[in-house]
Amino acid sequence: MTMKFIKKYVFYLFRWQLSTPILAIVLWWLRAYNGIIVTVIANFIGGLIFFWIDRIIFRVEFTNPLWEIRDNITCASCGKICDGFRLVKTKNYDRLNDKNPEFRCPECAKEKIKELTERGVIM
Ligand SMILES: [Zn+2]
Repeated sequence: MTMKFIKKYVFYLFRWQLSTPILAIVLWWLRAYNGIIVTVIANFIGGLIFFWIDRIIFRVEFTNPLWEIRDNITCASCGKICDGFRLVKTKNYDRLNDKNPEFRCPECAKEKIKELTERGVIM
């Protein structure tokens, strides 16, 4: 376990406590109604809020560029059929959900990397 992971975990435990006031307020506010139904409502409200916070907590950080390697691609630049690859994700470049990913042969990939770097993509 890394220090970063432990920090995230401790932070998450504190964030978990933030759902306590929501639960308490809703339980008190709707105290005339069935406890289980009211708890479901309170958790629903909590879920609406904490989904966004948890998404930030569990965001994966890319510190190294992520590549995809594939056999028998048709190079998007020269049309050669060979083993090729594509850059998927860096700190400021994201083609993770690309519907038409472009793979390139090693030679054209070098050119493409140069172009991307010139455009400001951090490798
Ligand atoms: Zn090529």
